[in-house]
Amino acid sequence: MELKEKLQALLELEGFPCHFMEPMSSHTTFRIGGPAAAYVCPSGETELKTVLSFCRREKLPFFILGNGSNLLVSDAGYEGVVISTTEGLTRLEAEGERIFASSGQLLSRTAKRALKEGLTGLEFAAGIPGTIGGALVMNAGAYGSEIKDVLEYARVMTPEGEILTLGPKELKMDYRTSCIPAMGYTVLDACFRLKKGNRDEIEAYMNELSLKRREKQPLQYPSAGSTFKRPKGHFAARLIEDAGLKGFTVGGAQVSQKHSGFVINRGDATAADVMELCRQIRERVKTQFDVELEMEVKTLGKF
Ligand code: FAD
Repeated sequence: MELKEKLQALLELEGFPCHFMEPMSSHTTFRIGGPAAAYVCPSGETELKTVLSFCRREKLPFFILGNGSNLLVSDAGYEGVVISTTEGLTRLEAEGERIFASSGQLLSRTAKRALKEGLTGLEFAAGIPGTIGGALVMNAGAYGSEIKDVLEYARVMTPEGEILTLGPKELKMDYRTSCIPAMGYTVLDACFRLKKGNRDEIEAYMNELSLKRREKQPLQYPSAGSTFKRPKGHFAARLIEDAGLKGFTVGGAQVSQKHSGFVINRGDATAADVMELCRQIRERVKTQFDVELEMEVKTLGKF
């Protein structure tokens, strides 16, 4: 039986509304990616746990998707189940100096809630277009702050279905990394510990950072943000620019003219274009400066 038919039969048997051959280009900020064999949106934590244990029991490959803002999906798509958190896992609550958010909640909304509560600490995150789950996996950060600075704890589910409550150290959060993928954890939710602040000052700082983003980043084009991690002692964007690669193009993929750290989709880029562009960038930077650029963007599917 074809994978699609097997998934259809199994998922419908469990009663999960499921989309088949769902174009991933609709679910990534790169606007690139072939179809996922199956695409499920659990309506809450219980449903998420059921889908996960079902996939594990049936040995179906699966992928947890946040907002798809740090992701390049192959043109051939993904032969498995994409589990999206953004529709059903969106709890957002405040209590004293703490904010509780489910894994599919947007970081930007969480930061705005902090502003509403007069809590400071999440201003840096207001312009990052990811979810709480994606932000924890990546230890997302900007303008000198990172998620691990404000994370008190997260609840994660292990591959065995056990729920653990872990802090940033246990999650091994470091520059754009954590142990979440390697451990096979699924982030369920997070608690952020912030500080009482002045609402006007919080808002002014958020506005200042938002302006900086709009001035420096090519936000009018689809992308996945910074394509490469910052190599020790260097800036990826500077190395790429110094290698003469500003505006360098492969097919529809281009090194942004505005910010060389961003690979943008000029409209008709394929995942293969992006990968080839990245390969050539890495090769040129290695040859000219003897620096290895490491991808920050995650990939899904065969390349
Ligand atoms: P996705 O792209 O959906 O997934 C990323 C990884 O997280 C995948 O491996 C996925 O499987 C995993 N994942 C997602 N949710 C869960 C979960 N619940 N449990 C387990 N694993 C999960 N990043 C920064 O750090 N700083 C920035 O300033 C920044 N600016 C950006 C600007 C633009 C215009 C864009 C497009 C991106 C930017 N990014 C930035 C990158 C991106 O927004 C962050 O990496 C973000 O944290 C990714 O979150 P996501 O929900 O989109 O994750």
